[in-house]
Amino acid sequence: MTDTQEKRFTAYDIDGKEPIVKYRKISKSFGDNEVLKEIDFDLYPGERVAIIGPSGSGKTTMARLLMTLETPTAGTIEVDGRHLWHKEVNGKLVPADEKHLHEVRGDIGMVFQHFNLFPHMTIMRNLTEAPVKVLGLPKKEAEERAKEMLEKVGMSEKAKDYPASLSGGQQQRVAIARALVMRPKVMLFDEPTSALDPETVGEVLNVIKDIAKQGDMSMMLITHEMSFAREVADRVCFFDEGKIQEQGPPSEIFTNPETERLREFLKGFN
Ligand code: ADP
Repeated sequence: MTDTQEKRFTAYDIDGKEPIVKYRKISKSFGDNEVLKEIDFDLYPGERVAIIGPSGSGKTTMARLLMTLETPTAGTIEVDGRHLWHKEVNGKLVPADEKHLHEVRGDIGMVFQHFNLFPHMTIMRNLTEAPVKVLGLPKKEAEERAKEMLEKVGMSEKAKDYPASLSGGQQQRVAIARALVMRPKVMLFDEPTSALDPETVGEVLNVIKDIAKQGDMSMMLITHEMSFAREVADRVCFFDEGKIQEQGPPSEIFTNPETERLREFLKGFN
């Protein structure tokens, strides 16, 4: 890599750091439709990467692979040094087993477009369910963690309420707290505001900005909110036709795009 390319890669200081997430030559096809084409992608601990690109360019598939909700057609993904589907046994790659996948999934917290809170549980129960059932935490400890996270997203007062009584923005803030309560190493957001009423988008973006500002969480943010990406991300990856077409710090990507495709894409947001 030349000096100039290195400068454009990320605004984050990656010196001496090993990536926490590594995609290597990841391809994914649905039938004849090759959605991802030999993607190489690294996320460094504490780095915030925004993924932008037109609909259908493969962004969600990229996220679903990391959550092991899809299996790649080819390639490998590692999280904190552990392979997702393929792990090495005697120098040979074999599919990972369920126990292993379960462990790796625990490193990643995901927030989707649709919040998917459990409707029949209070907000508090929504947050304590997984820490108790999956991590085996005592109820009291889980509740302590939950309180802390609800405070972080400004939802402490709603702990005893049910999801249906909350606005979309409030439900999404709870969904973020629910992911954080598991203390994941990586937070993955897939268009967390695109199903919300315009008036509640800001409150959710602010919560994500706050988490980003705290600085120690590695984040992948799939978003159509360009000003948000610009403000929060250390690096922006532009996806098109199943490939990362261009990537760099937001100051470069948004003010000095190199490819015609990215210039065209960004015009749609002006
Ligand atoms: P983006 O998030 O950038 O909008 P997606 O990853 O959702 O893109 O989709 C990329 C392509 O993969 C689209 O053409 C979509 O129709 C296709 N696709 C995604 N999931 C499936 C699936 N489960 N079965 C078949 N095709 C799929």
